[in-house]
Amino acid sequence: MTNVASLSKLLPTYARLDVTFTDGEGSWLVDADGKRYLDCFAGIAVVGLGHRHPAPLAAAHAQLDRLWHVSNLYSTEPMQKLSVQLSDVFGGAQAFFCNSGAESIESALKWARKVTGRREVVALEGSFHGRTFGALSVTGQPAKRAAFEPLVPGAVFATPGTLAEHVGPQTAAILLEPVQGEGGVHPLPAEVLAEARALADAHGALLILDEVQTGVGRSGAFFAWQRLGVKPHAVTLAKGLANGLPIGALLVADDAPTGFEPGDHASTFGGNPVTCAAACAVVETIDDGLLAQVRSTSAFFTGALARFGEVRGLGLLLAVELDRPAAPVVERALEHGLVIGSAGERTLRLTPPLTISADEAALAVGLLGEVLG
Ligand SMILES: *Cc1c(COP(=O)(O)O)cnc(C)c1O
Repeated sequence: MTNVASLSKLLPTYARLDVTFTDGEGSWLVDADGKRYLDCFAGIAVVGLGHRHPAPLAAAHAQLDRLWHVSNLYSTEPMQKLSVQLSDVFGGAQAFFCNSGAESIESALKWARKVTGRREVVALEGSFHGRTFGALSVTGQPAKRAAFEPLVPGAVFATPGTLAEHVGPQTAAILLEPVQGEGGVHPLPAEVLAEARALADAHGALLILDEVQTGVGRSGAFFAWQRLGVKPHAVTLAKGLANGLPIGALLVADDAPTGFEPGDHASTFGGNPVTCAAACAVVETIDDGLLAQVRSTSAFFTGALARFGEVRGLGLLLAVELDRPAAPVVERALEHGLVIGSAGERTLRLTPPLTISADEAALAVGLLGEVLG
């Protein structure tokens, strides 16, 4: 493997593994030495359709040849089309486009304050909503926050069992991940989500779902809330939306207050035509057939991985609780040509492309068997 450390001048914000990837196709990655890897991480649930999927690839290529950027003071066709497509899948919503998950959370927090005139946001312990100041403020992991205080005031942390104690007339929003991703892959029980919606409605607060990781088909439905049966006032998307090009989105339900007026919020690059063209192709590709495949591949993994430890998750956002530290397993898997991740001390995380074939899924389980011995 090529020693990246000797070739780079990057600030050390990541504990990077010693591999430099140069090419990708479908569920496969190739490193600088030509070695092939089965990708069961997909850039942390980003490359949902697999590397260089022909639909977003063709759409982005075609848009690159026409127009790269204009200001958001004007309209572009891909951005308008994407907003309509997402509204249709959501069942009626208006979109704000930005460039990342954290930015989508920032827009959701500003929207909630503007709509309600309140400043408290109830989030869950163990949650993850991003690394910018607002998003970090509502992230329920003290170790990630500690060095950066003071943060944005108003964050209140609850457990699924204590939501009712923390929500009241002072609450602007309840912010929840349908499955906590970075926090260890912990699915939120459907009844907790239903309780959150009822509490929000009772107190004039907003229910915002952070679907940055669970959205865009990963759960086996386009939105994870569709599997849990509780519609939120707003939802954030990012990771899988443009299959690897940077994008984030806040969707506000048509029956929720719009709140924002011109001048309230903005993003220079948000709604970029190339990115939105790719995202339109992604949304078109995630049809009922692919969503059914996600659910059946999920059932295969859930059964086959059980011999390694307790399996948690929803759709193709899966974790295995090991009897040993996960980081060395992730590293050895890489040596065996399998890319996986971790989400906590002993938690392996698998977020393969939604398009992974049955043969590739079986191969992944076989490789993991070799690694775990
Ligand atoms: C990854 C993630 C974020 C942050 O997204 P970035 O694009 O890294 O800013 C926010 N919320 C959830 C649930 C995530 O998984």
